[in-house]
Amino acid sequence: MTEIELARASRAIPYGFARDMRVLLGTAEGDALPPLWICAATPLAALAEVQRKFGRIAPRVIEQPALERAITRVYANEGGASARVAGEVEGSLELSQLMQDLPELEDLLETEDDAPVVRLINALLTEAAREGASDIHFEPFETHSVVRFRIDGTLRDVIKPRRQLHAALVSRIKIMANLDIAEKRLPQDGRIGLKVAGRAIDVRVSTLPVGNSASQPERAVLRLLDKSTGRLDLTALGMSDATLAKIDNLIRQPHGIVLVTGPTGSGKTTTLYAALARLDATTTNILTVEDPIEYELSGVGQTQVNTRIGMTFAAALRAILRQDPDVIMIGEIRDLETAQIAVQASLTGHLVLATLHTNDAVSAVTRLSDMGIEPFLLSSSLLGTLAQRLVRKLCVHCKKAGPDGMHPVGCSICGNTGYAGRTGIYELMPVDEGMRTLIHDQAAEQDLREAARKAGMHSLREDGERWVAAGDTALEEVVRVTRD
Ligand SMILES: [Zn+2]
Repeated sequence: MTEIELARASRAIPYGFARDMRVLLGTAEGDALPPLWICAATPLAALAEVQRKFGRIAPRVIEQPALERAITRVYANEGGASARVAGEVEGSLELSQLMQDLPELEDLLETEDDAPVVRLINALLTEAAREGASDIHFEPFETHSVVRFRIDGTLRDVIKPRRQLHAALVSRIKIMANLDIAEKRLPQDGRIGLKVAGRAIDVRVSTLPVGNSASQPERAVLRLLDKSTGRLDLTALGMSDATLAKIDNLIRQPHGIVLVTGPTGSGKTTTLYAALARLDATTTNILTVEDPIEYELSGVGQTQVNTRIGMTFAAALRAILRQDPDVIMIGEIRDLETAQIAVQASLTGHLVLATLHTNDAVSAVTRLSDMGIEPFLLSSSLLGTLAQRLVRKLCVHCKKAGPDGMHPVGCSICGNTGYAGRTGIYELMPVDEGMRTLIHDQAAEQDLREAARKAGMHSLREDGERWVAAGDTALEEVVRVTRD
């Protein structure tokens, strides 16, 4: 179809029908009848049906692939949607349009035509990937179901399908993730490998039964991991020059532990990946233990934790130590055993990079001693701790100046949030001789903090001032992420 012909195409026929029957209706021009593009695969009954509903039409036969491309294009969203379709996950049809096509039945197994549900899930995945969402939530409520995206750390409602459809949506996700769709009483987890517009996206699926009604509703949460996120660059994570220089120095030490701390979703793993990417994987043996593997790093041996078969962080670490590593990255230190192996590894000539779930740089020390790591071992192994958070950047299209800096407003470009994109704020505590002695002597957290500040450590909030002063974020945003 030519561009001129495409311009005459309409969405008068519901997408489901157009797609399945391979018909595309055009608008009438002058005295001419509206064209109906069809192909050899179009059933004659479909022509009769269109004629019955829209009156006389002028059928035009074109090649099937051209027609299918045209249908996808006409029914897709504006804004380069056709470029994203890519054949793998067909999507980005207007979500509201797709919602109308959804079947009345509740159970996918009883639904003869699951295509609308498939299309809706595909469109949601495509849209989530396009908007850079990290998670998609499917939650059942009494009267409706809610689908939400987490973008830049914040959840946003996307669609609210009828409550009766919730089970069909979750069933479809479970099918894609190879889960047992008949099992609705137990939590399940699985994965879906996707390609969206040429990007490899790994989707981690988790389902959880909620409520106690006979229908046994389940929540489903999909975490999207974009594996093809280009080369991670430590200099692009928003660190000040001073912090960057100190971190660069720490990760080039021959042995010891460097910890990155913060709550879930604070960008810890990205920092670790960027640190590893900075090291030379051709001359050093870099091995990781992760849950999950979020990015694939070239030249790095990455091991996935799988607790179901006994491949815990600790078990994987012990195996890794027999593989002659120079640098070891531990996705997260969650228990004493993992912490102990990390310490031992660092004391026997390895550089260990790991994340830990604590609020600030200093409390990482307390956390490890609370876990049961001997202070003398900790003092001789710890090189430094880096606490971090992600702050949302103000949308440059709508931010407004006030007496105390820039403020968020909200416009169509930023989805009315006032923010677009994120950057990092950091608190780095290098362990110097003085600090080493304090850790060895089990000094109180307050004393450690005081010593660190004297040695030049800035708090997370102070580091955030850089972005506030530059007008890149709002003070309230820095306060929000550093509140705990
Ligand atoms: Zn905006």
